[in-house]
Amino acid sequence: MTFADLTADIRASAPGLRGRLEANAPLAPFTWFRVGGPAQCLFTPADEADLAHFLTHLAPEIPVTVIGAASNMIVRDGGAPGVVIRLSPKGFGEASATGDLIVAGAACPDKMLANAAAAAGLAGLEFFYGIPGTVGGALRMNAGTRSNTNPEIEGETRDRFVSARAAARDGSIVTLSPQDMKFEYRRSGAPGDLIFTQATFRGVPDDEAAIRARMAQVQAHRERDQETRAKTGGSTFKNPPGHSAWRLIDAAGCRGLRHGGAQVSEKHCNFLLNLGEATAADIEALGEEVRDRVRAQSGVTLEWEIKRIGVAR
Ligand SMILES: Cc1cc2nc3c(=O)[nH]c(=O)nc-3n(C[C@H](O)[C@H](O)[C@H](O)COP(=O)(O)OP(=O)(O)OC[C@H]3O[C@@H](n4cnc5c(N)ncnc54)[C@H](O)[C@@H]3O)c2cc1C
Repeated sequence: MTFADLTADIRASAPGLRGRLEANAPLAPFTWFRVGGPAQCLFTPADEADLAHFLTHLAPEIPVTVIGAASNMIVRDGGAPGVVIRLSPKGFGEASATGDLIVAGAACPDKMLANAAAAAGLAGLEFFYGIPGTVGGALRMNAGTRSNTNPEIEGETRDRFVSARAAARDGSIVTLSPQDMKFEYRRSGAPGDLIFTQATFRGVPDDEAAIRARMAQVQAHRERDQETRAKTGGSTFKNPPGHSAWRLIDAAGCRGLRHGGAQVSEKHCNFLLNLGEATAADIEALGEEVRDRVRAQSGVTLEWEIKRIGVAR
């Protein structure tokens, strides 16, 4: 599918734009699943001011979608109409510590955030070391781990969160407190149009070597229990209250189930895999089949944790 080229009109309405604008830009290479169609228009802002300038002048009827590392996302095969905004580490990737606070740009990888905290002797952010997303995605998803088996290396974004900055759809810049973020399990209830640009987290002073030892534990757990090198979107479904999604999926006989080029992981059956040639439609259909089988077997309806954007081919 090829979309109409919006870039000339956008450039004309926002003179002085410094970021990169591309028409029909492939998104699959940016995603963990490596599937999906193009963005009608992909905008990579130079910095927060450039993003604000862009949004201020963008016609209100044009839909805007933001992606981070796309580690929790299926881009559908027909691509994403309107503008897709991807913050680049160049303008949004820094992480720095002052006292017990760490300020990180929204494109900073979670792993780098954990490293910056460790280098500053700040504990409590070790769990970020195992999450392959960015700070922006962590804010939207309240990313984290919580199984209560090893509280020392577990946590959620909300536990360490102090404040965030974001650009609203009209280009205004807002600051958000913990109350504004309305964090819940794997979501933030902050207005859906907000594009986070930066966040501040608080750590707890500790010995760097002890922090790094816990980060190594995080890494070891991942290597043992998860598909760390596969084309996947991580946990596909949220854990329903009182249940664990993987147990329900396993009990419904879905471990290893296939649809086209997509498969339910044998190792961690809440993960879906692109075996190499899957389309986004294969992966989404497999997810829906899993939901149907789980509903039939246990009566529980699984809710997608993975975000699906764009249109089918
Ligand atoms: C192997 C693997 C393991 C994983 N393990 C975990 C885990 O242990 N815990 C966990 O919570 N998650 C896990 N995930 C899922 C994923 O890494 C997290 O949800 C992560 O926070 C997503 O960040 P991202 O930058 O990739 O966001 P994306 O996938 O790009 O986007 C996710 C959502 O965030 C929004 N978003 C992204 N950036 C911004 C921004 N700047 N402003 C506003 N909204 C934004 C998007 O619009 C979308 O709605 C795993 C994924 C994989 C592939």
